[in-house]
Amino acid sequence: MIEPVVLVHGGAGNIPTTRVQEKIDGVTKAAKIGYKRLLSGGSVIDAVEAAVNFMEDDIAFNAGYGSIVNLDGQVEMDASIMDGKNLQSGCLGALKDIKNPISLARLVMEKTPHCLLVGEGATKFAKSQNVPILPPGTLVTPVALEALEKWKKKGGIANTEIGPDQNPGSVGTVGAVAVDRYGHVAVATSTGGINGKMVGRVGDTAIIGAGSYADDNIGAVSTTGHGDTIIKYCLAHAIIKSMEKGLSAQDSTTKNIDTMTERLKNTAGAITISNKGEVGIGFSSARMAWAYQKKNELHYGIEHDQHCKELIEEEC
Ligand code: ASP
Repeated sequence: MIEPVVLVHGGAGNIPTTRVQEKIDGVTKAAKIGYKRLLSGGSVIDAVEAAVNFMEDDIAFNAGYGSIVNLDGQVEMDASIMDGKNLQSGCLGALKDIKNPISLARLVMEKTPHCLLVGEGATKFAKSQNVPILPPGTLVTPVALEALEKWKKKGGIANTEIGPDQNPGSVGTVGAVAVDRYGHVAVATSTGGINGKMVGRVGDTAIIGAGSYADDNIGAVSTTGHGDTIIKYCLAHAIIKSMEKGLSAQDSTTKNIDTMTERLKNTAGAITISNKGEVGIGFSSARMAWAYQKKNELHYGIEHDQHCKELIEEEC
């Protein structure tokens, strides 16, 4: 029997010091919520969905409410979910006005013959499933609009590397991976994208093999960071492939992130779980918030070489 784990991240990037605590609070709560769902009879898919739903609703993260906006000031979100048991997956690109994209991605996986729906077609599918469409602009926050204005004044390329004096609203894609006692794994990733993105831009988070991958034979990975770079490197799948060749979850995560960054000169982060319950956490950005629960231990961090551990008192 494997010891179940739910591991989450809250986005890689140059997270301003003023936002560190809210990110840690968010990821630790999300890990506990996902773990509780898993231990109370939920599947690994239920666990990753619950953890990501919580972060989508938290304004501290760039997903769901609190997403960054495109150059026209609109929220367009990407999400993906994958079940390691059968490689079934559901993805969304440039999705508008849906409160919890990851739950709609799950419906794409479970109710359609397709892997990826985008834009208007995704909205049409949501309506067919009776998923509420929010009034336009509901997901747009003042922080995101301010971040766009600052980005426009400064110019430059769309990126996740955001300094404290620049775009506080742009860091914080969310993701979760989980393993149950039988070695089943799953992944879910959800984002508003990157600051300064063009209208209609779809990033790694919508793409299986780039933003998410899960295979019960090996493990599951959720990535974050500069999506256009992550797509070129197929980061999530590259990590899985290195594990298949024998690297540990941690070594495979670190090695692939470092190689991608060296080759393509952009940063990323990833969380990885193996089908044996081994954890991998890595990022080449300045910071990435992460947390996981295993038994009554809560592990978390946001800086390089930081690994905090707390015992959870309440029953799970
Ligand atoms: N990877 C996401 C994207 O490029 C952004 C992020 O992870 O912060 O859309």
